[in-house]
Amino acid sequence: MMISSARPQRLLGEGLLGAARRHPEKVALVIEGVSYTYKTLLDSALRMVTALQDRGLQRGDRVAVYMDNTWPCVVSIYAAIFSGGVFFVINPQTKREKLTFLLENSGTKILLTDGHIASVFVPAVQDVPSVEHIIYSGVLKKIPDDETGFVPFDAVLSEALPAEKFLTTIPNDIAALIYTSGSTGNPKGVMQTHQAMVFAAWSLIEYLRLSETERIMLVLPFAFDYGLYQLLMSVKLGATLIVERSFTFPAKIYKRMEEEKVTVFPAVPTIFAMMIATNRKKSIVFPSVTRVTNTAAALSASFIPELKKIFPNALIYKMYGQTECKRISYLEPELVDLKPASVGKAIPGTEVFLLTPDGESVEPGGSGILHVRGPHIMAGYWKQPETTSRMLKDGSLPGERILCTHDWFHMDKDGDLYFEGRTDDIIKTRGEKVSPLEVENVLQAIAGIKEAAVIGVPDETLGQAVKAYVVVNGDVTFKERQLKKMCLANLENFMVPQTIVFLAEMPKTQNGKIDKKQL
Ligand code: ASP
Repeated sequence: MMISSARPQRLLGEGLLGAARRHPEKVALVIEGVSYTYKTLLDSALRMVTALQDRGLQRGDRVAVYMDNTWPCVVSIYAAIFSGGVFFVINPQTKREKLTFLLENSGTKILLTDGHIASVFVPAVQDVPSVEHIIYSGVLKKIPDDETGFVPFDAVLSEALPAEKFLTTIPNDIAALIYTSGSTGNPKGVMQTHQAMVFAAWSLIEYLRLSETERIMLVLPFAFDYGLYQLLMSVKLGATLIVERSFTFPAKIYKRMEEEKVTVFPAVPTIFAMMIATNRKKSIVFPSVTRVTNTAAALSASFIPELKKIFPNALIYKMYGQTECKRISYLEPELVDLKPASVGKAIPGTEVFLLTPDGESVEPGGSGILHVRGPHIMAGYWKQPETTSRMLKDGSLPGERILCTHDWFHMDKDGDLYFEGRTDDIIKTRGEKVSPLEVENVLQAIAGIKEAAVIGVPDETLGQAVKAYVVVNGDVTFKERQLKKMCLANLENFMVPQTIVFLAEMPKTQNGKIDKKQL
């Protein structure tokens, strides 16, 4: 099958084909100071498609991208998109046990990764027989003796010719899995079709009023849908994306933002809090930025006047989303002073409404559980029909499925939404979801720990901070720092508890369960 760039977009990859046709020589990406044109991006992605096809990739096979925010990562994402497979990006901070789970759960066939994280992925792939090929960027110090499937990224790119034919893909095919933490402890793979992702990206572009002249700054990981969609949107528009690995070195980011005349700055409250703190000491101003966006955790109303000083020419967008449908709502930026606590209305082309826990409609002004209708809703969780049915419910149209967010909201008389709270115990910290159970499992696996309970506590900058309570066995003693370090060996940085409290005994309910309400 040939994928056309001339008709309206149906498949995710057509965004890149169109942009490369319209302006091949335009800079698509600036990564670590190096510029890459649309022509180069398309050419490299198509070469990698050949490499994937040569390795036996079939329609629907899973391709995992476990990489930093780098050029090989972007090429791998587009190659996987074009290939007819299902791609998913894994946060490069992910540790061995979780990586093994993700590769196994998805049944990954080809892994694209970075040589410097070999100590994590080499043992993981040895435990997962479905992984047949590993393409790694950079240097791999030692290839395991009995392994044949390891090949270097650069060699693959220079040897393969750009693919001209692709496997058949239609808009209903799954394009990506986006793993998100669940209250059951293990992450769940949100299945998103080509048509859902194409729809969502265009809906976002519309309300963010983006055009091909944008220069979007990316400091968020591609494993997070907020980061991934910056790439998808920028490429669709034929705009330029400035890619950084993270916000770890803010001074470097500020310099890049100035040099690159960034126009769009997407971030989360933790990042904004750091910027505000810096600005109080030494003024930072980015006059080129015309759009600032926040999602994943609530932006405190007190941040808004401060952000206006840092971004004097920007519209500020307060938004709310769930991975299960990408984005749910946004507040028109002109209303940000009038309604600083609201996350606004449904994104274009979708609808939201409130229902009681029994499914009844809610009186105007009353509180209810937010439900979402639209083409952006996930197809379900990968191989998890039971958890899927907790999130996707029958709608009023026969056969239609709507998303239950399990979050409480109320609406004002204009229909703008206000978040009230969650119905599950998932912690949202630094914009990332943390399953308390996942952290508890890691703590409990440490020899000497008898019981562990993890909760989220309100925190101005993090949204919520992860707090752990532990009871140790007999006379075992741990230092808080030592336990945090042990957690870091198995958890991504953002999941490691900020505080660990040692208790002599856990508060329990009548039926013997840990009573978290008392913590
Ligand atoms: N979907 C994201 C989340 O899971 C945030 C977003 O991009 O709206 O929080």
